[in-house]
Amino acid sequence: MNIRHIETLAVSLPMKKPVKMAFEEVKSAENVLVRLETDEGVVGWGAAAAAPTMTGETVAGMAAAIRYLAPKLEGMPLEDIGAIMARAGSYLHGNQSAKSAIDIALHDAIGRRTGTPAHNLLATKRRSRIPVLYIVGTGKGAAGDVDEALRTLAEGHVAFKIKVGVADPREDAERTRRICEALDGKGELLVCADANQGYTAEQAIAYVQAVSDTSLAYFEQPVAWDDLEGMARVAKSSRVPIGCDEGLHSLADLRRHHESGAARGFSLKTIKLGGMKPAYEAGMLCERLGMKVNLASKVAETGISTAAILHLAAALPAIDWGVGFSSQMLTEDILETPHVFAGGHVGVPAGPGLGIEVDEAKVRRYAREA
Ligand SMILES: [Mg+2]
Repeated sequence: MNIRHIETLAVSLPMKKPVKMAFEEVKSAENVLVRLETDEGVVGWGAAAAAPTMTGETVAGMAAAIRYLAPKLEGMPLEDIGAIMARAGSYLHGNQSAKSAIDIALHDAIGRRTGTPAHNLLATKRRSRIPVLYIVGTGKGAAGDVDEALRTLAEGHVAFKIKVGVADPREDAERTRRICEALDGKGELLVCADANQGYTAEQAIAYVQAVSDTSLAYFEQPVAWDDLEGMARVAKSSRVPIGCDEGLHSLADLRRHHESGAARGFSLKTIKLGGMKPAYEAGMLCERLGMKVNLASKVAETGISTAAILHLAAALPAIDWGVGFSSQMLTEDILETPHVFAGGHVGVPAGPGLGIEVDEAKVRRYAREA
């Protein structure tokens, strides 16, 4: 069975509320979709969020990259994702987000063709119900965030990520401490913080020292993505393990951070690494190096990305640093049956491929120019 046609579309999906981070505020979900059809009429879907400040890729750029690659991949046998993506790489450097949408569509199509859930294309299934890493950040100070953490704990959440890097590091540390203390002794919980590159190394050191006696499990991307030396300096001063997110775009980045002691774990995203297969490979490398894994959608992705993350979460050996999703923040997803986020958890789809059905009427309703 061969690839007959690779089509790209784009959607702009409204979100329930804007998400504010250190250097950006995301108000809508701008995503590129891939609809891949085989010569037997099997259709697979993939998607990638535009995250220009993280990946450098816009909707228009991703669509152009996918249209450039499509004729070079059409006609290839479907089964060998490695060979297809190697060919894509031989024609086009970088553009990992655009490539990730193709990689996800391939997993969906092959799974559907063979009646296999996508996680079985990666490895054997290890889990079927995934705890959702809840983003704590009300903008209403420590008291507001503590209330939100306790409210979501009562709903069943067991994993929490505190967004920092916006305020003064000592204020952020005090808010972090209050949230950690409120959650202490309330079960086996994961509490972490993410600065999204918002600090200088000195600010980050002030933060980690002020939270050193809390139950914070890890602290993500304190400084700029390319400041490896700063990351290493913060990591050296910190009892709390340091995680790398914006600084990871390849296995080489992963090795570099490991070798220089700059991080003890990594946030794996399909849009940064080029899809499910490379994200799985990064997770396996983490396992070999003794590094921790956080798995995440970027803010403002669709249910297609959620499905891809769920299949990765089902297959990876360890996901100790939690799993983040974002399609639950959409006013309306583009799936016929959206994922059910309930009790702080979400289930791994059991059907073939990604195990979801894309609602093409909704795709048309939210279509944007690409
Ligand atoms: Mg992050």
